[in-house]
Amino acid sequence: MLNYIIFGPPGAGKGTQAKKLAAKLNLTHISTGALLREEVSRATEIGQRVQEVMARGELVDDEIVDSLIKDKIQNGHEAGFIFDGYPRTINQARNLDVLLAAKALPLTLNLEVSADELAKRLALRGLESGRSDDNEATIKNRLLAYARQTEPLLDFYADHKRLISVAGEGTMDDVYQRLEKEVS
Ligand code: ADP
Repeated sequence: MLNYIIFGPPGAGKGTQAKKLAAKLNLTHISTGALLREEVSRATEIGQRVQEVMARGELVDDEIVDSLIKDKIQNGHEAGFIFDGYPRTINQARNLDVLLAAKALPLTLNLEVSADELAKRLALRGLESGRSDDNEATIKNRLLAYARQTEPLLDFYADHKRLISVAGEGTMDDVYQRLEKEVS
């Protein structure tokens, strides 16, 4: 079993690259953002609990995302997973290691993108995506949440020698080729 985390700030291109890598490696792509948006659009109990937090650009409680991930891992397939948008806190990272330990600890592929480039991409996506959290105030909060709660995970994975950083700038194909080299 092979497991990867695609890591990086909002706007780094995690979703796009995760989809392509999952297809190449025959892995299951799990995006917690997409799972949570689905809960919101179906107005489930979880959806109702997370809607406002997501709209503000803050992180949803660990216990909620951990339970969504646990379900997916239990129902997933043998080849392995690409986690996109998870883990985002140190507790989530520890939880994921526990869930996967017996199988295979995930390797982290970190997309590095400058703050200027991120701001440009997110503003552009705001015009195109129709996602309600792609607006100026929310984007600011999402970048703050990344810096405060998620970026420290880079040290966690570096300490465990499970971190590979790749330049996330250039075209989508450029970035994909860099990632492909690391996973082949
Ligand atoms: P992006 O990386 O572009 O911000 P995502 O689709 O990954 O977008 O996430 C959208 C929102 O969903 C986040 O701002 C957060 O509110 C929530 N979310 C997604 N994944 C997690 C997670 N692992 N832990 C807590 N909240 C999450």
